Amino acid sequence: MSRVVHLRGARKTYHMGLHAVNALDGVDLDIERGEFVSIIGSSGSGKSTLMHMLGCLDRLSEGTYELAGEDMSTADDAQLSAIRNRKIGFVFQQFNLLGNLTVLENIALPLAYAGIPRARRLEMAAEMAHKVGLQARLDHRPTELSGGQCQRVAIARALIHEPDVLFADEPTGALDSKTGVEIMDLLDKLHAQGLTILLVTHDLKIAEHAQRKITLSDGKIIEDKQQWAKNENSTAAPEPGKGSKLGFKDMFRIGLREGLLAHKLRTALTMLGVLIGVASVISMSSFSEGSKKKQADQIRALGSNLIKILDQKLENSELYQARATGSQGLSREDAQVVKEAISDIESMAIVRDMPLDVELNLLPQPTARVRAISGDYLTVNNLTLSEGSPFTATEHRHNQRVAIVGSGLLPDKTDAADMSEQTLTLGGQPYRIVGILANRYVDTTELEAIGANDTNQDILIPLGTAINRYTYLPLRSEVDEIHLQLTREERLAPVGKRIRRILDTRHRGVNDYELIIPLDLLKSKQESQKLLDILSLSISAISLVVGGIGIMNIMLASVTERMKEIGIRRAVGARAEDIRNQFLVESILISMAGGIAGVLLAMAGVTLASRPLAFPVVFDPGIMFVAFSASFLTGLGFGAYPAIRASSQNLVDILSRE
Ligand code: ADP
Ligand code: MG
Repeated sequence: MSRVVHLRGARKTYHMGLHAVNALDGVDLDIERGEFVSIIGSSGSGKSTLMHMLGCLDRLSEGTYELAGEDMSTADDAQLSAIRNRKIGFVFQQFNLLGNLTVLENIALPLAYAGIPRARRLEMAAEMAHKVGLQARLDHRPTELSGGQCQRVAIARALIHEPDVLFADEPTGALDSKTGVEIMDLLDKLHAQGLTILLVTHDLKIAEHAQRKITLSDGKIIEDKQQWAKNENSTAAPEPGKGSKLGFKDMFRIGLREGLLAHKLRTALTMLGVLIGVASVISMSSFSEGSKKKQADQIRALGSNLIKILDQKLENSELYQARATGSQGLSREDAQVVKEAISDIESMAIVRDMPLDVELNLLPQPTARVRAISGDYLTVNNLTLSEGSPFTATEHRHNQRVAIVGSGLLPDKTDAADMSEQTLTLGGQPYRIVGILANRYVDTTELEAIGANDTNQDILIPLGTAINRYTYLPLRSEVDEIHLQLTREERLAPVGKRIRRILDTRHRGVNDYELIIPLDLLKSKQESQKLLDILSLSISAISLVVGGIGIMNIMLASVTERMKEIGIRRAVGARAEDIRNQFLVESILISMAGGIAGVLLAMAGVTLASRPLAFPVVFDPGIMFVAFSASFLTGLGFGAYPAIRASSQNLVDILSRE
């Protein structure tokens, strides 16, 4: 016969201010496997304290304790939890069942912390419920049971893992005498099957059920009496349990049921902070990305990989100064030299602005802009014709009076046949319309900074025609703009530099031209918007922090509210780590749920808002990842303190709370 309890010199001292109370004062105790021992003594004699020490719910101040051959004095929390989980069954006066769980789930609870899969757990629990006569009540909640039935559930839970010893602290104390007798009959039956039982009671009649009666007084054993012969029918020691722990699925289920779903409204309100934070991050970034994309798209629509060189149109003394220094202003030769020097240039166009009076069908057109062009003007600027064709080589060579007209100047649906019906005069000279520019929408207010113009009001004529048929101030620069299209976007910056070097030499260092790279201008414009982005991001971040504080607040309240639950879980074998993780999972779930709801809300809201506004929206997967991680970290960060608090409670304290 092996020894289950071996206690030597056990002392437990409680300090109350300056007082020290020895609740246990040098107790030696041995209990053999298969014994049924009762402990009696007046109130305050140390019975409960002894049980708590034997049950590994608390540590001795002094002395050594071996349970089933294992030294408990040096075990850490994880080891003690495993011992409570596998070697000890505990039955309390107040039953200590979890109100949210069914009878079956309550009985199965210790098995969860042993890492046994749920289906197997419930199967084992059903079998155990049968043994204690509860087979008809499996799906009931504790509140739907009588006191006697509750205590049966508690006994079944204590026995589910075939413990070495069952500790029962006043198990009949909360029951009427008839029910108390029934519970004692059950314990007698279990003892007859070989169970080792240690029972605390102040009721002498109850104590008669035991073979051995120990009397405590002031923390000392004053009597230890064998009442009748030992039961020889003892079971073999069960195999020690394997070192597995609470599975992730169970942790998740506990978090969901006990945390989120148990207080739906509270959870929803707590989520709001995170939800608003995440929703605002996502929607702001979607709009900001959308507007950037819209601008970039428009710039590309105006011609890709463009470099524009603009004449500065100097006047008066500046103009004389420039010409005296030896610069002729922007010229066709400049364009030629640049093109020959740089191989990255795919196509080129030259523009000269013509301040001519325009009359179309005898009506003056004050908004029209006349531009004399050469080269690949249409291609470079990504323009197409809805009617007619570009200027032919002959038209260019013979300086013919032909024109291509922007669609905005003509009535809608002007077609090829109508074209010849229109009369156009520029500076009093008649022109023949040979083509119509296809309508192109440009948001000029948004693109003003990069010098975009509305081409729908343009009238294009051949450059030669303009230079040879009109006379001007002699000092005027020959051309006003040179447009260059490069083969690749990456070449824009280096080519820009080279052009500057070439033109600076040709213009003798006179600053009479300007070089524009529209895409670069856009980028620097967007740089300046970054501050706004950062500002809106910080506002969202603040809202996340506020949400996090809300979570922390609720979790702290929840920990206080659920002390009893924590104690029960710990008593059946949950490690401090399991409790900590349980509360962490809860806060992370709340936060992540808020985050996911926020992402969905933002996507729905932004999509709905963008449709009537015809505004492009870009959902960046990166920012969604950031939103998810941020809500995860919020839950983790703000849940950490409540979780640690939940897991670091003194077990005996929280179990003895009413
Ligand atoms: P019993 O269960 O026999 O009534 P207890 O073991 O509960 O006795 O208490 C034994 C002594 O230890 C009592 O004097 C009690 O006041 C004291 N005591 C028990 N628990 C605590 C505690 N947590 N803090 C301070 N004193 C305690
Ligand atoms: Mg007591």
